[in-house]
Amino acid sequence: MSGNFLALAQPGVQQLSPYVPGKPVDELARELNLDPAKIVKLASNENPLGPSPKVLAAIREELAELTRYPDGNGFVLKSLLAERCRVELSQVTLGNGSNDILELVARAYLAPGLNAVFSEHAFAVYPIVTQAVGAEARVIAARDWGHDLPAMLAAIDAQTRVVFIANPNNPTGTWFGADALNEFLQDVPGHVLVVLDEAYIEYAEGGDLPDGLDFLAAYPNLLVSRTFSKAYGLASLRVGYGLSTAVVADVLNRVRQPFNVNSLALAAACAALKDAEYLEEGRRINESGMQQLQQGFRELGLGWIASKGNFICVDLAQEAAPVFQGLLREGVIVRPVANYGMPNHLRITIGLPAENSRFLEALAKVLARG
Ligand SMILES: *Cc1c(COP(=O)(O)O)cnc(C)c1O
Repeated sequence: MSGNFLALAQPGVQQLSPYVPGKPVDELARELNLDPAKIVKLASNENPLGPSPKVLAAIREELAELTRYPDGNGFVLKSLLAERCRVELSQVTLGNGSNDILELVARAYLAPGLNAVFSEHAFAVYPIVTQAVGAEARVIAARDWGHDLPAMLAAIDAQTRVVFIANPNNPTGTWFGADALNEFLQDVPGHVLVVLDEAYIEYAEGGDLPDGLDFLAAYPNLLVSRTFSKAYGLASLRVGYGLSTAVVADVLNRVRQPFNVNSLALAAACAALKDAEYLEEGRRINESGMQQLQQGFRELGLGWIASKGNFICVDLAQEAAPVFQGLLREGVIVRPVANYGMPNHLRITIGLPAENSRFLEALAKVLARG
């Protein structure tokens, strides 16, 4: 008789639920027999501008080299990032998406008997990487939907090795300021690696959101993770990075798969970093789209959680699942967040003006049906 391979999985894995991605456009098109071109997807915090032409050109150029392994050290991209981020090259870790960085941290620093601390309503990947290596996920109740940093601090013990904090957080969009971050970092014991996940930082620049890089020199137990998936518009290519001390980067490098970032992604990320206009246009579109959605919510009498990201959680004051389903039938894909402990909210990624309008019209229609 063969073994029960679910029961044989390590206990942390048995208790995990797999990550639930946003519904793909083609899947909805197949299910409802809709024209994929008419479907609006505002579900995965992707950049609505599409890829930058400069990035596409860089990828095309790289295609000729597809038979070769990529540069496993990512020298060119790391050099660019080191310069941008005012760190040494030895402090940069490249990842297959910043998700990879989170996994490397867990693999290198967590194990059964140890724990990671993170917030309720925080990014779904934190429990996955933590429990996948058999460590305890210590989830701290949120405060006004955001991180309760003092409570997270209080939850740290001798077995804590990692704290994951996202600023701004996904899916809530909530954020904390420089003073709160500084106080937190000052009080975190030195044996705890603080992973500051800044996946949306490019959208928040210039506001009251702290720049994690400003804290790297003072706190050797800080790792800042960032990504090309969101503001840089390269979600499909899977490329992100971590910035830390050279010691932490060296440790992560030991567990990294040798060619974790492919050559097209490396070339694209380099081109994206140099394309300031694309980033600026993305920010502008995001800001006006955020206003557009909030105005729409106001007109529908709906509340929302203030957000610094490229997405916003609307409060439907009722179970959101039927509304989500109604929106699908209208050809609009948004993101349910019941699995994040938010059954009355939907998370909407800011789209182009016409996409935002399509969503708002569909929402009004679905809500009117009751
Ligand atoms: C999207 C996201 C990431 C990672 O995305 P990658 O595509 O793996 O770089 C990390 N953290 C948060 C909070 C996110 O929303």
